[in-house]
Amino acid sequence: MQSQDTNPPKPAYALVIHGGAGTILKENMTPEREAAYTAALQAALEAGEAVLKEGGSSKEAVVAAIQLMEENPLFNSGVGAVFTHEETVELDASFMDGATLNAGAVAGVKTVKSPIAAARMVMDSSVHVMLSGKGAEQFAEKMGLEMVENSYFHTERRLNQIKRIKDSQANATKTPYKGEMSIDGTDVYKFGTVGAAALDKEGNLAAGTSTGGMSNKRYGRIGDSPIIGAGTYANNASCAVSCTGHGEFFIRNVVAFDVAARMMYQDLSLEEAGDKVVQEVLMEMGGDGGLISVDKDGNVHMPFNTSGMYRGYVKSTGETYIGIYKD
Ligand code: ASP
Repeated sequence: MQSQDTNPPKPAYALVIHGGAGTILKENMTPEREAAYTAALQAALEAGEAVLKEGGSSKEAVVAAIQLMEENPLFNSGVGAVFTHEETVELDASFMDGATLNAGAVAGVKTVKSPIAAARMVMDSSVHVMLSGKGAEQFAEKMGLEMVENSYFHTERRLNQIKRIKDSQANATKTPYKGEMSIDGTDVYKFGTVGAAALDKEGNLAAGTSTGGMSNKRYGRIGDSPIIGAGTYANNASCAVSCTGHGEFFIRNVVAFDVAARMMYQDLSLEEAGDKVVQEVLMEMGGDGGLISVDKDGNVHMPFNTSGMYRGYVKSTGETYIGIYKD
């Protein structure tokens, strides 16, 4: 007698992406903006899936999906990134290969067109894991990556945003995070860090994250996004993870690695591990945000403890999803 297998078939590949978590409420969103975000997420999924379908690597797929979002002004990464207190854009990104546990990251870069490409370049072509500021820029330029003026990343929307924040926070000593919504329906503080995690046909996992960090940041502040284990982690033995949220809490809780560690050491499923970290550990501390993740079996999980997270996934089985708010 044949055994009845009720489990869904394991997908040959899977890709999951996010475009940031935060106070994202349907009542503050116009239909046009919602459609624009959905289209942008869809385009990123398609770009990544095109790579995976052809038998390309999870590394290529992650970079392809993230680069589209870096170029899209809707997201807080690359073009359209949030402004620092000094009204410049400083970008952070990281990348990890789950097959080799190699990793690369850049922090505080101002002139590298694609921070995720630079992070991957640090992984592939240097003996280091993380480069920052001017050194990271020198390295990227030497490796032939495209360099741009900082103004390439500037958008009027974000400039207005930082001016509003500075006006209203003139006497504040701490950078706020919990977002109010502005009159035009856009977030006042930030949201829109981007990330991707993928499983390819070879069974290899990879993850990457790219961000402008937090609005109004100063003193060379670096968040979790470029920190391996905090904002990004991938290991073929467990899962690939990219985070978004209040970076300081994600660093302190080593969030991306904690999800993988709970799977490996406690034998939790991807879903159990992610929910534990996002809905319990982070929540108890007041750490707003979420993450996207995919495991070695192609399961996908996208937990968040904010009102929304731009997110989506696609699998070789044809299963696909795009979401913005809590379901
Ligand atoms: N985690 C990012 C940071 O703290 C921001 C975000 O994901 O929204 O820099």
